[in-house]
Amino acid sequence: MNGSDYKNFLSACKKAIGGEVNLQSHQDDSDVIASEVFRNKEYVKKVAADIRNKFLNSIDYNLITFDKNFASNGGVINWCIDYNDFLVKLDKVLQYKKIKKVNLFSSYLSKELGIERFIDKNEYSYDSESNDCVIFTPQFGIVSTGSLFLNFNSAYDMQLVLGSKLKIFVLSICDFLFKPEEIEIFSHLYSIYSSGINFPYLTSLYTPSPADQSTDALLFLIDNGRSNVIENSDIRKILTCISCDACKDVCPIYKVIGDEPYNNVFTGPVANVILPFMENAENYKHLCFSCSSCGNCSAVCPVKIPVSELIIANRKYLFDNKLMDIKDERTVNSVSKFVNSRKKMSAKRWAKNLRLKSINNSRIAEEYKFEKSSFNQQYIQMKYGK
Ligand code: SF4
Repeated sequence: MNGSDYKNFLSACKKAIGGEVNLQSHQDDSDVIASEVFRNKEYVKKVAADIRNKFLNSIDYNLITFDKNFASNGGVINWCIDYNDFLVKLDKVLQYKKIKKVNLFSSYLSKELGIERFIDKNEYSYDSESNDCVIFTPQFGIVSTGSLFLNFNSAYDMQLVLGSKLKIFVLSICDFLFKPEEIEIFSHLYSIYSSGINFPYLTSLYTPSPADQSTDALLFLIDNGRSNVIENSDIRKILTCISCDACKDVCPIYKVIGDEPYNNVFTGPVANVILPFMENAENYKHLCFSCSSCGNCSAVCPVKIPVSELIIANRKYLFDNKLMDIKDERTVNSVSKFVNSRKKMSAKRWAKNLRLKSINNSRIAEEYKFEKSSFNQQYIQMKYGK
């Protein structure tokens, strides 16, 4: 593959492999807890998967319904195509409301949108005790009621967010459920598979009220590349993810290389599926190949996303759509013809090294050299003494 990102990825991986790695995971623990909490955990996972897929399959209609319901409750929605669009709109709101200090509750989405960087770079500052203006990421929007499902780390956080005069919520266009009754399943699944605990986090269902004049609720709905993923019917299932990170915990590759080589907010198996479509295929296509296809991620996922299969589907998509480097394809073909020929592999070492050099990829010839005898020759020597 071409691209400096691929090289950086490899060198970051090599660096990461230097440390000690604990390949134990809490997959079994989560599944044991899930079996204690639910009479039939596989059935619950299926119900959860069906809800998330049903939302995604009619996302346009569902989002419009939510928009109508949220607005009729007195909330205001800003639709944002990407993070630039979001930051411009956020800046306008903060200036209009004369806000100088912001209480930001950090999340994956706030990092994806660069809110931390935006605050540092502009004339705003953080105030983690203020309830003048909070920026918060709900876990889900609820379509039928126009409400937001909020997950808190503490009662203090809950008080700050719910008591804030200006509530700015950021939510991805994919993070929705249909009805409040569905929350129970998801809050249990999330606490079990994200933290291995058998009771839900501190949560609240927030519905703006037109009668409440003392507070403003603004919701920024963020696309930021997700509609590109939705267009691909093979991999759109990845957007039903509830960000529990259980797949990271069981991925043997992620456990070794960690976050750093990804150089992105998205890391681990989900990133391998999503980034070539959300960002761009050229810089992220190598991620489809940093997978051992062990299937652990698919097995653990609480919403039954076949993550491992989606990574393989990505590879096919990249080849079918000629997004792979043609030079790589030729190299792979030439090398496999070479190593699959017993006659060529049994040739003298200098002849094999020379042949390798003639393959149109200098990196391979520089990094790999043949041993004096092939494995087959060593085996014959050992067995028959010739
Ligand atoms: S894909 Fe991974 S992070 Fe997303 S819900 Fe499944 S296990 Fe959790």
